[in-house]
Amino acid sequence: MPKQKAVPPPKQAPRHRHIPQRTCVACRQVQATSTLVRLVRTPEGVFPDEKGKRPGRGAYLHSRPECWQPGIEKNLPHALNTTLTEADKQRLTEYFAAKSADDDSVK
Ligand SMILES: [Zn+2]
Repeated sequence: MPKQKAVPPPKQAPRHRHIPQRTCVACRQVQATSTLVRLVRTPEGVFPDEKGKRPGRGAYLHSRPECWQPGIEKNLPHALNTTLTEADKQRLTEYFAAKSADDDSVK
């Protein structure tokens, strides 16, 4: 009986990799989370959540001014079912302004 060549078992068909999709609360586009910034509501206020891991109610915005500017004013309070304080708005505005400044790929 001829020795059979060891054939490695066929690899499982690659599964479709699940890429989490989220909706920008300003423009309503659905995109991978990597292109969106998560904002999370905490007892201390609303914070940007770079890692996407903070517990709490979250909402997503693009880091482009067309989205985060109206988003902070209108869409975010609604999406998070909260009121943004002046401190929250200032913090988020500064965060996004800095992010837009060093991220030319999002236009
Ligand atoms: Zn958007």
